[in-house]
Amino acid sequence: MNILDNHRATDELQALDAAHHLHPFTDTAQINANGARVITHASGVHLTDSNGEKLLDGMAGLWCVNIGYGRKELANAAARQMSQLPYYNTFFQTTHPPVIELSSTLARLAPADLNRVFYAGSGSEANDTNIRFARHYWASLGKPDKSIIIARKNGYHGSTLGAASLGGMSAMHAQGGLPIPDVEHIAQPYWYAEGRDNSPEEFGIACARELEFAIARLGEKNVAAFIAEPVQGAGGVIIPPSTYWPEIQRICDAHEILLIVDEVICGFGRTGNWFGSETFGIRPDIITIAKGMSSGYLPIGGSIIREEIAEVFSQKGGEFVHGYTYSGHPVACAVAIENLRIMEEEDVIATVADVSAPYLEERWLSLADHPLVGEARIVGMMGALELAPEKSSRKPFASDEGDVGLICREHSFSNGLIMRHVGDKMVMSPPLVITKSEIDELVELAHMSLDQTYADLKQRGMLKVSQ
Ligand SMILES: *Cc1c(COP(=O)(O)O)cnc(C)c1O
Repeated sequence: MNILDNHRATDELQALDAAHHLHPFTDTAQINANGARVITHASGVHLTDSNGEKLLDGMAGLWCVNIGYGRKELANAAARQMSQLPYYNTFFQTTHPPVIELSSTLARLAPADLNRVFYAGSGSEANDTNIRFARHYWASLGKPDKSIIIARKNGYHGSTLGAASLGGMSAMHAQGGLPIPDVEHIAQPYWYAEGRDNSPEEFGIACARELEFAIARLGEKNVAAFIAEPVQGAGGVIIPPSTYWPEIQRICDAHEILLIVDEVICGFGRTGNWFGSETFGIRPDIITIAKGMSSGYLPIGGSIIREEIAEVFSQKGGEFVHGYTYSGHPVACAVAIENLRIMEEEDVIATVADVSAPYLEERWLSLADHPLVGEARIVGMMGALELAPEKSSRKPFASDEGDVGLICREHSFSNGLIMRHVGDKMVMSPPLVITKSEIDELVELAHMSLDQTYADLKQRGMLKVSQ
């Protein structure tokens, strides 16, 4: 028996988990009543639970395990670095080889002149840094009034006070007194649900123009930045119409504001290029990175800043009174370096672009023929299905939003496929290294789950359109 198998019995683990562990984004009473599923192993694209059941991880953990599970090279890189220098900070006019190596690698891989990296322990922390950076940047240029950050409804930028304020998740704002001051939210480019009679192209332009209206309304002299994900991930894999990003770019170019692109999901290959900004032709001033940077093996995040802006910031900003104990953690950096080395050596992104993404797209879009699917959409290796009571009208279910999605997710988990539901949308984002036969498995299990959900809804009289 592998030493890792030598754990307590499942019911005992669940009881201890219920007694002492509070889960993130979870209804505690509910999970404790049901018992959490205990994941004990993983290899490639598959997870194994404490009962020995295997699950295909269609979410790459939380959109992060880009090179798949069980890569010994990453474990070895961590062990080597831990023996040599497990920790040291970068506050005291000090630095270390892993943080230097990773920064130069990121500068090489990131678009054009994004050359300077500020590290955080996560995507949320990095977005908190971005708020402080953007505001201090303008203040050091003698424009302290430029402090408003414009973000989007249903965007996701993390869960700290700052990042959750940038995010536009109303359920998150309802707890804990968010958002913080000087954050404004504009519409999301979500054509399926909000585009009404507009064509996607018209709707994309209209949503982007909201940024220009917001800048006019708030006063350009008061606006520091606009932040957005190239494709909204947690919001439900919302892929903007083709007209959206060019118009956003035009507006950002025409006004004196920073463009912060949150690449936490889209970065490191998810959309078929190193960064989502390349896929959508965006020229960011700052990008947020985390998740796929280390394939989730260790927590690390950061902001990559355009050379010219970083230069002004360093000339005029004085001391940036901000940082984290774990900014540029040497072990996390060593693991990220190894992860990126593997991605380059194994041509992971070229394989995604040439082989896996086109194949996944073909298979995933075939699910649009299912009677329960109103729309299937995908970019690179992330996709969504809009579950709908009536094909083609784009109207929601009469039931509470999320009820149907939850039924489908439960079926999916029972069938051995991890898909997530966002309201009544099913989303997937598998490891980038998923093979064609594993893609077949994913799509077949998704199809089976749709069939079962459809049968359930029929039986319960839930195939009703909201009036
Ligand atoms: C996950 C996510 C974050 C937050 O990252 P954490 O590491 O969970 O703090 C920020 N932005 C986007 C787009 C994300 O998907």
